[in-house]
Amino acid sequence: MCFMMTGCKYIANAYPKRFAMTVHPAAIGLVLVGTVLFLSLDMFYIMPKIYDPDGLFFKIAWLISLFIVYNLLGNMIACHRTSSAVTSLPKDRQIPSPEEEHLWHFCDQCQMLVPPRSWHCNLCKCCILRRDHHCIFTATCIGHNNYRYFFWFTMYMLIGSLLSLATHIHLLVINEEMRRQYAIIHFTHLILFFKPMSFKSIVLNICFVLNIYACILPLIMLGYQIPTLYLNTTFYTPKDLSYNQGLRGNFMAFMGKRGLCTFISPSIRSPLPHDGTQWQTKQLSSTV
Ligand SMILES: [Zn+2]
Ligand SMILES: [Zn+2]
Repeated sequence: MCFMMTGCKYIANAYPKRFAMTVHPAAIGLVLVGTVLFLSLDMFYIMPKIYDPDGLFFKIAWLISLFIVYNLLGNMIACHRTSSAVTSLPKDRQIPSPEEEHLWHFCDQCQMLVPPRSWHCNLCKCCILRRDHHCIFTATCIGHNNYRYFFWFTMYMLIGSLLSLATHIHLLVINEEMRRQYAIIHFTHLILFFKPMSFKSIVLNICFVLNIYACILPLIMLGYQIPTLYLNTTFYTPKDLSYNQGLRGNFMAFMGKRGLCTFISPSIRSPLPHDGTQWQTKQLSSTV
């Protein structure tokens, strides 16, 4: 995965099976528990204190929340289910044509020639087309076919976390009674007039801190992915600009023909311009 991948790489390579069996369920569980926790807290506790539960704004808030959760979980599932493995190619495309053969390289583990930009993953036990990295939150490698889903999954994680944090802060600003329950706001007050906090206050404060962490995580992940998308690089080859085809070209290569429309739903069909075996280089303006 994203930023934690660097730190976990050694363990993942040394103990791939154990790593996958423990880290994948933990990471997926974290996303699911976090989604349910913040959705419930916002829609059943915080939002009713800001808007009239029978009013239009409250209904709109529900629609926006469900749209975000649908895209967050929908892209997460689609990312897991969409394989970018070289072996997902049609049989005749798993073998290079005579004119392409010199551009492919041999994988010792798979014992076969693989296309340019394809690299082996020890956790997936196969070579991945335009391999970016192995994501523990989707329990799969991010590559040519599923990059679109991974990017929007991360984006919706960030949007959801930021909106959740914004509603927290909004409530703090407008509600005097709630303000008293947040240690972060009344830090000075607590030092001067220390009194034990109620259980409800402790839970609210923990959720507030968790919400801040929930914003930081996708922010770091996108911090890696936006330059990748912008320059057509990968997580492990951020300085290789050979495949940069300009913003529009790169966006289409990663998101497919529907481009930005893929933001609306993971179910929108957006065919990719090629099968991930042929890549046009910038300098040579040729296909490799
Ligand atoms: Zn391989
Ligand atoms: Zn992998």
